Amino acid sequence: MTSHSFVISAPEQASLPVEGTDQRFPVHRIYCVGRNYAAHAVEMGHDPDKEPPFFFQKSATTLITDDGDFPYPPATQDVHHEIEMVVALAKGGVDIPVEEALDHVYGYAVGLDMTRRDIQSVMKKMGRPWDTAKSFEGAAPCGALVPATEIGHPSSGAIWLKINGELRQEGDLDQMIWKVPEIIAQLSTLFQLRAGDLIMTGTPSGVGAVNKGDTLEGGVEGVGALHTRVID
Ligand code: MN
Repeated sequence: MTSHSFVISAPEQASLPVEGTDQRFPVHRIYCVGRNYAAHAVEMGHDPDKEPPFFFQKSATTLITDDGDFPYPPATQDVHHEIEMVVALAKGGVDIPVEEALDHVYGYAVGLDMTRRDIQSVMKKMGRPWDTAKSFEGAAPCGALVPATEIGHPSSGAIWLKINGELRQEGDLDQMIWKVPEIIAQLSTLFQLRAGDLIMTGTPSGVGAVNKGDTLEGGVEGVGALHTRVID
């Protein structure tokens, strides 16, 4: 491997803790699936039956890890929580067959696809990209990864989010329109997937606004939990 001398300091490698170890998982890209639970598609004003999966990305630099605080972002009055199961890839590829997709998974975590909903609404209306709504600083709080060698590949089980102890989002992984193997297969027709990629797999219904001072606690049955606090 070539060793470069850089003209400025190289950026720090984004990473996630791995449950039960002091090692970390290096993060390459973060892919997100839109409207992957029927009840959420309906609450956002869409027909869940008509759409193939669609994707967007968050920068790996938007991760908040190790239960760090979520700084309320600028240029918005309406920041929404979207609790999601996160898939981490140990192996990449292109045109990965559905039946081989799970062989590429390292493990799973609980994440939040934080969204500047007011900006997203404007961008949708104008047919513009979602980056400013989805990829701001701190937009991807994520809990510890749990290896699939320990928990298998969860395809059912509760997914939920509480704010200040009150239940706001509740669903089940079995409500995903596109299942994890299908998501990996589809993404790999569009991108060269790589070890270190994360995939946020969509949110159940109940999305809503967070406020400064809120405590967020989310979980996925069989995977784990995520805690963060909204700070000024
Ligand atoms: Mn989402």
